[in-house]
Amino acid sequence: MSKAKQALRDQDFRYKKGLGQNFIFDEGLLEQLVEKTEITKEDDVLEIGPGSGTMTAMLSEKAGRVIALDIDEKLLPVLKVTLGGRDNVKVVLGDVLKTNLSELCTDFAGGFHIVTNLPYYITTPLMTMLLSSNLRIKSICAMVQAEVADKLVARPKDDGYCPLSILAQLKSEVSIALNVPAECFTPKPKVDSSFVRLKMRETPLYPDTDEKIYMRVVKAAFLARRKTLLNSLRGGFTAERGELIEWLREAGIDEMIRGEQLTLDDFARLSKVIENKYVKK
Ligand code: SAM
Repeated sequence: MSKAKQALRDQDFRYKKGLGQNFIFDEGLLEQLVEKTEITKEDDVLEIGPGSGTMTAMLSEKAGRVIALDIDEKLLPVLKVTLGGRDNVKVVLGDVLKTNLSELCTDFAGGFHIVTNLPYYITTPLMTMLLSSNLRIKSICAMVQAEVADKLVARPKDDGYCPLSILAQLKSEVSIALNVPAECFTPKPKVDSSFVRLKMRETPLYPDTDEKIYMRVVKAAFLARRKTLLNSLRGGFTAERGELIEWLREAGIDEMIRGEQLTLDDFARLSKVIENKYVKK
């Protein structure tokens, strides 16, 4: 039996569904995942949700320093066993959504990578928070539900295309690194997963565009899925119909189009017009 499984058994550990605890023990799979992160000794890593520390141990071999943040205090004695003696790993107890990550990673002055087998219940809020933050994140490598992975890489007109697709692609180059069937986790979840890699862009995709306004336009465009963009925008901005038509024309966008048909470039042109004509008015 592996060290991690033995430690969990010794602590009489009970998996908590509410905390999204589906662990990975398969060494071959863990090796593949860590390889996909492309992390080297030059890199520092924040691992969110180390669980029993199986991936953390492998990351500590490949990376410079690793901070492993988990919410479940019952895992602390387990991690003491599985990660004991690894000088480059620091285990921290805390809720990632309530932790000041900038403070936590203050020693990672040159930036850092995030690696996580994400608890599914916080995937969207956490991804949104990380992607919108000013943290010096170099990449996010995350195990997510296959459906979320499809959203992250979705293009206009794809079923999964949504504000999260646009935010992810605006801030990073997204790719699905590996599809991982449900059988690979203990306990087995109901759905399959994918390991995604988001390589953060070093320079903004649209340097002249205000990101907050851009995302406000995106959210407004998706307010009512089957409505035309013109009608959706009316829910997000208090402007006359004629004014909205003028914005769309100026941005070179057909007024009968629906929000989910717009590319990232279309949103950039439209948000620039709105920035000039509405926000700075
Ligand atoms: N990385 C381990 C593995 O692959 O075997 C465990 C992954 S498990 C899917 C998710 C982990 O995230 C659990 O250890 C759980 O306790 C932790 N977790 C859940 N919610 C969290 C939160 N809000 N903040 C930090 N960790 C959390």
